[in-house]
Amino acid sequence: MSSALFSQIRIVLVNTTHPGNIGAAARAMKNMGLAQLVLVEPKQFPDEEAVWRAGHADDVLEQALCCQSLSEAIDGCALVIGTSARERKIPWPLMNPREAAAQVQQQLVNAPKQPIALVFGREDRGLTNDELHQCHLHLNIPTNPEYSSLNLAAAVQVVCYELRMTILGDQLPTVSQSSSELEQAALAASMRDWDVPIAGPAMLEHFYQHLEQSLIAIEFLEPNAQRQVMTRFRRLFHRARMDEMEVQMCRGMLKRIDQLVQKINP
Ligand code: SAH
Repeated sequence: MSSALFSQIRIVLVNTTHPGNIGAAARAMKNMGLAQLVLVEPKQFPDEEAVWRAGHADDVLEQALCCQSLSEAIDGCALVIGTSARERKIPWPLMNPREAAAQVQQQLVNAPKQPIALVFGREDRGLTNDELHQCHLHLNIPTNPEYSSLNLAAAVQVVCYELRMTILGDQLPTVSQSSSELEQAALAASMRDWDVPIAGPAMLEHFYQHLEQSLIAIEFLEPNAQRQVMTRFRRLFHRARMDEMEVQMCRGMLKRIDQLVQKINP
């Protein structure tokens, strides 16, 4: 299902200098379910560095098409989206990755068989104005204005991720199994202005170790066995988001248990 939908989408890299970026872009694509890579006059390709950086996306590299101009790379495309890290002089329809992904999704509905291209520029200079003017839309990833330019493959990753989330959204398994996002947000909101600081990881870790020792002492747990029981206890207490005082209370309770065990088995 996913591969059929994504087979219409091609990622075009223009004049890439570093073969490592081509490999990393191929990997980013395959991780998100895309496979059509088109290279416009890469400086160095094929290349070992590209293969290293591709990981298990060597198939994407092997199938990559090389061509001599952007117009060749986008030939027949119903929608061409050019990416850019900076604003250009003449305004053009400009979108963020999520908005652009919605355009891609709509285009796939309107013309399921026509290819769509997302075009990425050179590491040092991006895309030329002429190249950007061959695109229907421009896409900008809203980054920190003080350092707005992403590494090429990182930009490919962000865009492919948004495509995947938009196009497959409903079909993707939900991450949160036990409670919805709304419930999680409600929990966080319900703990606003809490009177005691929330216990940090080190404090919780000491508590879990203490709990394990005490549970072994009362022969509820056997040493080095039943790791799953401790995992479930951890999950239970993590869910409670204990504050520092609550952890101290639990530790006090465990201490008392330890003292009684000591009295029974001196
Ligand atoms: N100095 C160049 C940056 C090129 S970064 C310039 O100013 O354009 C290499 C490529 O990564 C860009 O051509 C674009 O395809 C992509 N890219 C990097 N940062 C981006 C951003 N914030 N938004 C969209 N694309 C970005």
